[in-house]
Amino acid sequence: MSSSDQTSFLENVNLCFDRAAAAIELPSGLAQQIRTCNAICEVKFGVELRGGYEVFTGWRATHSEHVLPVKGGIRYATFADQQEVEALAALMTYKCSIVNVPYGGSKGALKIDPKKYTQDELEHITRRFTQELDKRGFIGPGLNVPAPDMGTGQRMMAWMADEYQRLHPTDINARGCVTGKPVHFGGIQGRTEATGRGVQYGLREFFRNPDDVKSAGLEGTLEGKKIIVQGLGNVGYHAAKFFEEEDGAKIIAILERDGALLNEEGLSVEAVFAHKQEKGCMEGFSGAQFVPGGAELLEHPCDILVPAAMEGVITQENAGNIKAKVIAEAANGPVSYEADRILNEKCVFILPDAYLNAGGVTVSYFEWLKNLSHVRFGRMDRRYEEAQGQAILDVLEQALGKPVEGAARDSLLTGPDELTLVRSGLDDTMREAYGEIREVHLSNDKINDRRTAAFALSIKKIAAIYESMEL
Ligand code: GLU
Repeated sequence: MSSSDQTSFLENVNLCFDRAAAAIELPSGLAQQIRTCNAICEVKFGVELRGGYEVFTGWRATHSEHVLPVKGGIRYATFADQQEVEALAALMTYKCSIVNVPYGGSKGALKIDPKKYTQDELEHITRRFTQELDKRGFIGPGLNVPAPDMGTGQRMMAWMADEYQRLHPTDINARGCVTGKPVHFGGIQGRTEATGRGVQYGLREFFRNPDDVKSAGLEGTLEGKKIIVQGLGNVGYHAAKFFEEEDGAKIIAILERDGALLNEEGLSVEAVFAHKQEKGCMEGFSGAQFVPGGAELLEHPCDILVPAAMEGVITQENAGNIKAKVIAEAANGPVSYEADRILNEKCVFILPDAYLNAGGVTVSYFEWLKNLSHVRFGRMDRRYEEAQGQAILDVLEQALGKPVEGAARDSLLTGPDELTLVRSGLDDTMREAYGEIREVHLSNDKINDRRTAAFALSIKKIAAIYESMEL
């Protein structure tokens, strides 16, 4: 929670939920049933470290079990607490239903600064955390499936999967107990960049809807648009890189913890990233103005502002000064409820987190499906597709009397590999969900913005499932 805001992250999520629930018809009490966090476990466990013992605190919240398993990341952060985990778990429930991924929502956290431990120590701690979650039924391929989040990544997911497999040696689906694993350990191509890729696909879909683009005071496509990205972690880095390299957008500023880089002509995301990797900070990058602190650049004029780091960075304190026309929420909860209200009044078009950053969990879903089916996507049909393409090419060339060259030839002769299929599935998911949210917004007079529409869409879908269940 930001010090300047009156409401906590969890309250913000619940206020958004209540606003949406009030705009749709629901049987009495059902909104409360959907909104309530079903279970939360706090674990405190000792780990033998550096010749002594250290006690760690972790949480895993199961927000809604209207579908199983429940799904959501595990974050490693010193600021983690139970309320934050509950807020994030609730967002996962709404996120999954918005993008039609058949999971309930969950989230976990460990209160730790991962930078203070060696790889071996982190492995030991992560394996102990996995044992604790397993004992309490908070991990399992059919029950609760963690994934990476802030401070965690592929390697930790591999340790969790391996530990779970040791505890359940006869479970043939054990590797599906966690997603975001390395590809050689049951992961899937395209998972690392999936959240950033989903942000790109979501924004591309926005630009395919001229009425939306116009209502934001913009025109055209992503090409040449001035974008400010806050946070150069996994999500911010990939989204910024794709916007710059594939869509021709200008990344005019990148904000990080120690300060920001500004260049109205556009930054090279790769060069900034390499600089940050090498020096550990933004300062000293040539070819851009360094702005210490840098948070005021959230208020700098631009077409699209992409908060891609933490919750609560846009609050009632700075919302009134935001000049972006579109806010693309790559992070979870970057805009507080009150800030959201101010920005809506200013007609800033917000693509909400529960939709826009759902690329990660969508590709996690594909990974889980791969784990349960025990076969790589494309393995059965890739060469068949290529043979079909060859047959079409032969007929075409015969009819034309000349060879078909270039991209058309390549595309006919290349059967889809796993990465191509993952991207196709993610693109389809983001486009479909965009349309569903838009439809809810335009068909309900009580709904004035896309966040409320996204929540309403999700509540309706979950309510329909509850209405078919006996409680
Ligand atoms: N941590 C990511 C999120 O907040 C991904 C969750 C997942 O893949 O289960 O959406």
